[in-house]
Amino acid sequence: MTTATKPAKQAGQNAVSTLPALSLSKKAFKEAVVRHLHCSLGTDENKADNHAWYKAISAAIQELVLERLRTTQKNHYLNDTRAVHYLSAEFLMGRLLSNNMHNFGLFETADSALKELGVTLSDVLEEEPDMALGNGGLGRLAACFIDSLATMEFPAIGYGIHYEHGLFRQEIKNGAQIERPDSWRDYGNPWEICRPESIQEISLYGYVETKYGTNGQIQKEWHPGAIVKGVPWDIPVVGYGGKTVNVLRLWESQSSGYFNWDVFNAGGYVDAQRENVEAETISKVLYPNDETEAGKELRLIQQYFFSACSLKDIIRRYKRAHGDDWSRFTDQVVIQLNDTHPAIAIPELMRILVDRAELDWDSAWAICQKTFAYTNHTLLPEALEKWPARMLEKILPRHLEIIYEINHRFMAEVEKKWPGNNAIKAKLSIIEESNEKMVRMGNLSVIGSFAVNGVAEIHSKLVKQDLFPEFDQLYPGKLTNVTNGITPRRWLKACNPLLSELISKKIGNDWPLELDQLDKISELADNKTFQNQFMKVKQKNKQALAAEIKALTGISVDTKAIFDIQIKRLHEYKRQHLNVLHILALYRRLLENPNYDIHPRVFIFGAKAAPGYALAKTVIFAINKIADKINSDNRVNHKLKVVFMPNYRVSQAEKMIPAADVSQQISTAGKEASGTGNMKLALNGAVTIGTLDGANIEIAEEVGDENIFIFGNTVEQVNALHAKGYNPYDYYYQNKEIKAVLDWLDSDYFTPGQPGALSSLKQSMLDGGDPYLCLADFESYSEANKALDLAYKDKSRWAKMAILNTAKMGKFTSDRSIRDYVEKIWKLDTCSVK
Ligand SMILES: *Cc1c(COP(=O)(O)O)cnc(C)c1O
Repeated sequence: MTTATKPAKQAGQNAVSTLPALSLSKKAFKEAVVRHLHCSLGTDENKADNHAWYKAISAAIQELVLERLRTTQKNHYLNDTRAVHYLSAEFLMGRLLSNNMHNFGLFETADSALKELGVTLSDVLEEEPDMALGNGGLGRLAACFIDSLATMEFPAIGYGIHYEHGLFRQEIKNGAQIERPDSWRDYGNPWEICRPESIQEISLYGYVETKYGTNGQIQKEWHPGAIVKGVPWDIPVVGYGGKTVNVLRLWESQSSGYFNWDVFNAGGYVDAQRENVEAETISKVLYPNDETEAGKELRLIQQYFFSACSLKDIIRRYKRAHGDDWSRFTDQVVIQLNDTHPAIAIPELMRILVDRAELDWDSAWAICQKTFAYTNHTLLPEALEKWPARMLEKILPRHLEIIYEINHRFMAEVEKKWPGNNAIKAKLSIIEESNEKMVRMGNLSVIGSFAVNGVAEIHSKLVKQDLFPEFDQLYPGKLTNVTNGITPRRWLKACNPLLSELISKKIGNDWPLELDQLDKISELADNKTFQNQFMKVKQKNKQALAAEIKALTGISVDTKAIFDIQIKRLHEYKRQHLNVLHILALYRRLLENPNYDIHPRVFIFGAKAAPGYALAKTVIFAINKIADKINSDNRVNHKLKVVFMPNYRVSQAEKMIPAADVSQQISTAGKEASGTGNMKLALNGAVTIGTLDGANIEIAEEVGDENIFIFGNTVEQVNALHAKGYNPYDYYYQNKEIKAVLDWLDSDYFTPGQPGALSSLKQSMLDGGDPYLCLADFESYSEANKALDLAYKDKSRWAKMAILNTAKMGKFTSDRSIRDYVEKIWKLDTCSVK
């Protein structure tokens, strides 16, 4: 029997009162906007600047959003639905106004209404700062997933951190990256709602007391040294069609004023306490490292802070419906861990169940193992999170004890499976017994979850074979795959209106919800009229991007040239430097032979480097310096240009992707877990040049080998190269072109007056061992580029390839990813708001 505290469901209550009319008339929209100009902003139509219009329009849209949010929440409550709780340290949302208008079907209405008011919507949209609470792919994936969850009407809530400063703004000064603080909330955020009624308090530091209960059983009590408040801010997440509006709940840290002086005065504690992190700093800033993060105390506290606040929130909601009866918890709650960043939620739930709810360990552990599922995002060893046990002991002393207990019991399981095998025990243990004892969050996550997924077929295969093979034997079926996806609403419908309109004219309006329908345009791939229409759209998008390039960099580009785009975080494994080597090779070929026949090409980059990643910053500097040289060299600049777009982010991606002819996806095979930029570009008719890595492999399967340029060593070949002892000097001495371009980097040709400024790049590919095999893949990359150039020269062939790329992207909608999660892992039912 449940001791549910909420009223029993009554017949008919499932059907929530009918929704108010979805669409506003143009007249009503205008009235709402003008009302907000007057009453919310205290200005009027004559005085308002674009920013005021942006605020007024957002406020008008937010009225609809909140209405639907209320209906959705009431509906979920009345139906007492099982829900997924998506815990992610990052949500890279971008801008919301255009997205929310599109999802409510109000974009055209707004555009035309504003025209009548003398306002240009596209200018107004530029006023919105990006919500950049993430680094790159991992954070953007979380944003696409909550879009799909709302669109498909699944009960879901996203939990994350309300960073005061998101990812830094990038400026380029004399070719080098400068980081500036991002202040996305400086002039207020029209979407977020503060929920003081749901504030949570979480504990940090202190010590653990061992007590004995009435039956003599051991009880543990954590006496915290400090308590921090978590203030929730809700961002509504509007599904396409505007029926379901879910929430993204982000926690802001505040001082609770509580500081335990008893703990402070306990002997020998004063010095340690002095280093304590202050409450307000916890949610101050997003750590700017993509893929890696050093063992910083504040980072661990951030992770615990948002995980613990979220768990308390989840349990509060569960208890509202079910009281103290835990027996239905795992029927109602599933928690997805986006990478190991929220993995501390596992021992936190154990602590709540064992220490507070006084469940026995086995019952508590059974609940845990049915609650959590974990997504692995990387195989890079430096990116697998580990925390010093001493740090955990200081910040979360009870959690460390619980982790030891989990591990102790787990080691017994391992002993049963592999008796006497200490090597396997050492490998699978949550505790790494190195010089400094470390806690492996990946192992903890696998052990504490009922499902573990990689993010593309090849990645999941490698997770099973190389990263966690023994876990796969111990827990057959636990390790699985869910290939990533992207929302076609933002990444085609909203960002590429011309192509969307063309597609809708041919196949109707349902494709944003049923992306497989795009395949219908395959039939038109050979149709000359359609080819012309498709490429005319591409041409217009290129003109728009050319204007943006001119405005941001001063560089003029020829829109008849191939727009070749590599946009992603800057990292050696993503190999922007391989792209650079090839550009230098083309430059040399053109200087040596002015008649060298290539179609004019503009290489366009966008990338932020982690502030402490020196080589990545050198690559940015190199791209800018090489761009300066090539763009002003009249011998070649009619055929070759290089552009570095500063401050790459979601809103800039939305302008670049529709204009791309070529998508560079050139990571070393085995290193890119999935990639999602590859999907966005192909969806918009860019042809990929790429390695057999991540989701590129699945993209190639969909579009066919003749519509993609694949090159380079495969995962197996990469492993074989390393096994036999890879020596980059072999390639340096055997390939004249490789030698010439690397030596060129050593000269001051690109950095006059600064000799050696780019030497570290050459070094990394020679004495540094070229860990990502740029030299091994160079020749194959160069050949693939030649094939690409040849294909582009045949206009009709290229148009067909571009069309088929768009047509075959149905698989990569995030709706399909979510369907996979629901069927394989979450087991949710939709909860439709009628
Ligand atoms: C999609 C996206 C990414 C991920 O790109 P990859 O090429 O998959 O690494 C990173 N940053 C932004 C702004 C994105 O929109």
